[in-house]
Amino acid sequence: MDWPMCVLVTGGSGLVGKAIEHVVQKEGGKHEGEQWIFLSSTDADLVDVGQTRAVFEKYRPTHVIHLAAKVGGLYLHMRENLQFLRDNIKINDNVLQTAHDMGVTKVVSCLSSCIFPDKTTYPIDETMVSSFKSLYSPNVAPLNMILFFWQYGHRYTAVIPTNVFGPYDNFNIENGHVLSALINKTYKAKKEGTPVNVCGSGAPRRQFIYSLDVGRLIIWVLREYEEIDPIIVSVGEEDEVSIKEAVDMIAQALDFKGKIQFDTTLSDGQMKKTACNSKLRRYLPDFTFTPLKEAIKMTCDWFMTNYDTART
Ligand code: NDP
Repeated sequence: MDWPMCVLVTGGSGLVGKAIEHVVQKEGGKHEGEQWIFLSSTDADLVDVGQTRAVFEKYRPTHVIHLAAKVGGLYLHMRENLQFLRDNIKINDNVLQTAHDMGVTKVVSCLSSCIFPDKTTYPIDETMVSSFKSLYSPNVAPLNMILFFWQYGHRYTAVIPTNVFGPYDNFNIENGHVLSALINKTYKAKKEGTPVNVCGSGAPRRQFIYSLDVGRLIIWVLREYEEIDPIIVSVGEEDEVSIKEAVDMIAQALDFKGKIQFDTTLSDGQMKKTACNSKLRRYLPDFTFTPLKEAIKMTCDWFMTNYDTART
């Protein structure tokens, strides 16, 4: 690897970006001489090609971690699917083309497990990425990323995290991801002495991963992972839990003793999306994931401490 790197992190103010910033600044993730720049949409609107080029010209990165995207939970995506897709196609194209034009050595992008087909066999693995449905997935536009690999042979790769949560997530009850929206709902229910209403049956199963684990793994991918093919970043299949189990952990973390109700008139989304992390395990057999209960507790504590500034 060439040193020192100048790493530009797009989406640096979001859930995953903030986790990477924490690992870089607080866990010794930054090597001597390196420069790390964390961008938000106020530095540049990456939907706009001119602003994208200007911010790359300003920092001249050697490496890019590309996280910027319009992101939301199931219900927001169902409402805004087309606009999300259009903006994310532009963001991905602008970032990748500009990185190519400016000779960026390596780009690590983030795909979502939404790119896998609804009807498939489980567990999902990296070989199942290029499905037709991928093209219409709301928060990713992987086709252009794959073409950049093919056309230029760049070391532009991608991670595919499962359901990420942690400090700085979007805790909005309507638009946030399931776990963080549930943390906010439960916190509110406790304050108001009301039941928690969970959307759907509570039966769908998900692999939740703590954002700081994702941050550590993305930095590993940037430094060590030499493949072009994407890599699933997830806890093991045995660590998948139901939404009901997750809500129980949240209730325990927040010491919520009230009633938990499930509204089965609302959509469950996919019943499961079990992803296989054996490729990751081949590379990193000893990586320790933060236990879910512990990670939920830390996220709840962060949320309560930072309630006034958190995205709610
Ligand atoms: P967040 O919503 O927390 O953060 C999104 C980031 O993108 C913010 O920094 C935001 O900036 C930035 N952004 C949004 N629109 C623009 C724009 N037009 N121009 C420039 N920057 C923009 O997302 P996450 O951290 O959760 O997700 C990061 C990546 O990981 C995404 O690609 C997402 O699809 C992927 N991913 C996430 C998963 C999850 O469970 N969270 C799971 C799988 C993949 P600002 O703060 O200024 O708005």
